Amino acid sequence: MIDGGIKERIKSIVGEKNFTDNPFDLIAYSADGSEAEGMAEAISWVITSEQVSEIMKLANEKRFTVTPRGAATGLSGGAVAKQGLIMDFSRMNTILEIDQKNLTATVEAGVVLADLNKELEKQGTGLFFPPMPASDSVAQVGGSIAENAGGVRAVKYGVMRDWILGLEIVLPTGEIINEGGKTRKNVSGYDLIGLLTGSEGTLGIITKATVGLTPIPESRLSALAYFDTPENAGKFIFALFQSGLDISAGEILDRQTLNTVAGYTGMDFPDCGAMILLEMDGDMEDIKRRLAKLEELFKSSVGISDYRLAWDPVENLELWRARKAALPSMAQLKPNVVIEDTTVPLSKIPELLKRMEELAKQFNIRIPCYGHIGDGNIHPMFLFDPRDHDEAKRAHDAVKVMGDIVLKDLQGTVTGEHGVGTEKKMFMLAEHGQAKMNLWRRIKKAFDPNGILNPGKIFDYD
Ligand SMILES: Cc1cc2nc3c(=O)[nH]c(=O)nc-3n(C[C@H](O)[C@H](O)[C@H](O)COP(=O)(O)OP(=O)(O)OC[C@H]3O[C@@H](n4cnc5c(N)ncnc54)[C@H](O)[C@@H]3O)c2cc1C
Repeated sequence: MIDGGIKERIKSIVGEKNFTDNPFDLIAYSADGSEAEGMAEAISWVITSEQVSEIMKLANEKRFTVTPRGAATGLSGGAVAKQGLIMDFSRMNTILEIDQKNLTATVEAGVVLADLNKELEKQGTGLFFPPMPASDSVAQVGGSIAENAGGVRAVKYGVMRDWILGLEIVLPTGEIINEGGKTRKNVSGYDLIGLLTGSEGTLGIITKATVGLTPIPESRLSALAYFDTPENAGKFIFALFQSGLDISAGEILDRQTLNTVAGYTGMDFPDCGAMILLEMDGDMEDIKRRLAKLEELFKSSVGISDYRLAWDPVENLELWRARKAALPSMAQLKPNVVIEDTTVPLSKIPELLKRMEELAKQFNIRIPCYGHIGDGNIHPMFLFDPRDHDEAKRAHDAVKVMGDIVLKDLQGTVTGEHGVGTEKKMFMLAEHGQAKMNLWRRIKKAFDPNGILNPGKIFDYD
């Protein structure tokens, strides 16, 4: 409970203008991109690591909980608090250093991902920070590290963890520690960067990060192909990897998604079971050579009814139109959606897509699927109208069965990039087992003995 005395102490740390307990503000902060909801008791904007540290010391002294919050684009409820203080990072947003010689940037946690790339461009560095989730125009560095976010180019460039060289972390008990730095290799002691990345703000608060950068590729070109069935699209991806052709993005849109996009944008698609979109980057001559090889592979593959190759950047943008419209177009079908991010081994993609079609029939709901077929990370979209209570129940029941299918039959995971938060806690025991969860509890206790930081996320600590 945050009483009046505690509120005054928080204000004395962050300043009057960086604190609110106004109910309208609390309502505005009561959700993220998921279905989770909850009202905190107060919000503070932090500007310095020392303020974060002071607040955490106070929280331990007075025993109130603290939930870090970036842009709240998270899709699993991680930044939603049912009590205590929300610590907002949007005002701690300075790009501290761009070090071209070491190909690194050091930034504060609240820097918006796209702003980092804009600054790199503005300074003419020729470098970029690759692991961009589709929410990069608002999502912050701290929140994205805490989620270990990926993006459409994860198939080539990996996820956040692959690009974090150093972190400044405020421990739940208030101490400020530094881990890593600018070196590309570092095996000195336990890998706390690995542990904190993807820990969803439950083990420590990220205040600064040093990230790796890489040269912007000269060009990007894409190709798309229409398949008779999603299973054949999945089989093609398997063949593509075996061919050794290097792609920088590999996306799929199933028939239901294409129909929805067609209704939303007026685009026309041939009658098919699924479309896949493949991107290649590098120097132009090399990409064109690889595109020609890809065309040969299209011609020799089963189930492709048509394909298109973009030979220049303008055509390339056109090929991406449908993929970019996939998420916004869903709102045409139903007002609400549970967005899943199931991830399976590459060889299991065809079965995953088939099983989602069967699941939609079994529960009489729509489950369009699209996503990052190149790394086995598919987004089944469980659509429903909340005013139709029966349909809403069927959609949520179907999500539970999806968990069983992914974990028991497909050796996958229920989350490849959106994290667990509160929304996927129900799957943790089945996915990880009791012994591992007991170890998690001991780790949590070692970092956060009083259970102050972001309680109730990933798993129940008690
Ligand atoms: C339209 C849309 C598209 C998306 N596309 C993708 C995608 O392509 N790939 C992908 O991986 N995800 C995607 N996401 C999910 C989400 O955007 C990402 O996980 C994002 O990186 C979260 O950043 P955020 O700043 O919004 O974090 P928030 O949602 O504010 O927080 C996420 C978690 O991080 C914690 N946190 C926040 N700041 C800190 C900090 N400084 N220190 C410690 N913990 C902190 C929070 O407590 C919470 O648990 C998408 C979401 C939307 C709405």
